[in-house]
Amino acid sequence: MQAVRLTAGRTLELTDVPAPKPGPDEILVAVRSVGICASDVHYYKHGGIGNQRCVYPHSLGHECSAKVVKAPSHSVFREGDRVAVEPGRYCFRCEHCREGKYNRCPNVRFLGGPNEAGAFQEYLSLHESQLVKIPDSMSFDEAALLEPMGVGYHAVVLSALKPGESIAVFGAGAVGLCTLALARACGAGETFLFDRVQYRLDFSGKQYGPDHCVNSDVVDPLEYIRETTGGRMVDCVFEAVGAGQTFGWAFEAARIGGRVMLIGIPPDEQIWFDPHSQRRRELLVQNVRRSNRALHPCIRLIERKTVSIAPLATHRFPLDRISEAMYLAETYEDGAVRVMIRM
Ligand SMILES: [Zn+2]
Ligand SMILES: [Zn+2]
Repeated sequence: MQAVRLTAGRTLELTDVPAPKPGPDEILVAVRSVGICASDVHYYKHGGIGNQRCVYPHSLGHECSAKVVKAPSHSVFREGDRVAVEPGRYCFRCEHCREGKYNRCPNVRFLGGPNEAGAFQEYLSLHESQLVKIPDSMSFDEAALLEPMGVGYHAVVLSALKPGESIAVFGAGAVGLCTLALARACGAGETFLFDRVQYRLDFSGKQYGPDHCVNSDVVDPLEYIRETTGGRMVDCVFEAVGAGQTFGWAFEAARIGGRVMLIGIPPDEQIWFDPHSQRRRELLVQNVRRSNRALHPCIRLIERKTVSIAPLATHRFPLDRISEAMYLAETYEDGAVRVMIRM
């Protein structure tokens, strides 16, 4: 089968490798659509994320949808089933799995993680727990986008957002916009969205309707929020960029006693911030690790048209043009939000 491997920094190669052989509890699926995540770009560009380095050849891709090719007879899945894919394969035995906090499982095998197959290949062998059937009305691109949507879903759930609470989202990428849409679906009050890429703000304003859509290269986000809220700042901040500067803004944009949800993945090993400002305001800072079994509720939200993710898929490329796709995902050129690989 055809597979893409990262063989060195910034080098993606299309290779021919044997198709995976499913074990007794595994299901063979044909990958249909894969989104290029910022974490894939990190691996491509920086050769890893923080202290987790690539071991070449590295296999990328974790936001995917698929069609079942072969399932064991005892499985609930049948050949031809269209499925969304949960990229984490959990141990179901550790303390965290037993508490239902699967995303914290230290034994997780994650698609496209170090030494794990990623989704930029024709077939994958997955555990039944990783698959969820999707409705006929849902496209394979939408089903692949359920993964970043799930991260936004997890962030909003963890934030314990209450109706009427004001929020600020830093980052108008797929995860930031899903977070904004889900927070609005939960009854968020005044909403602020910041990004430095103007076309993404224009797109967000049209598709996701925040009250304030502000270019942080032009206007200082903290001054803007301070002025708009009469100095109170916002109840809950979602950081979906992963940069030192946006971390700093996120901490300062929260009100006294507010919450800050850190979703973005910084490429750096360390980020510095002012502990006293956080301490004096008794900020609650919560890290958001991927998502926790969010596929089912996200599918229901899409079916009911409460949240729309289809517009996020702005570009589509075949597998053999992945380098072009990666270029767009990295540079944000041509109005790219989520660049998809279609099999
Ligand atoms: Zn992702
Ligand atoms: Zn576990």
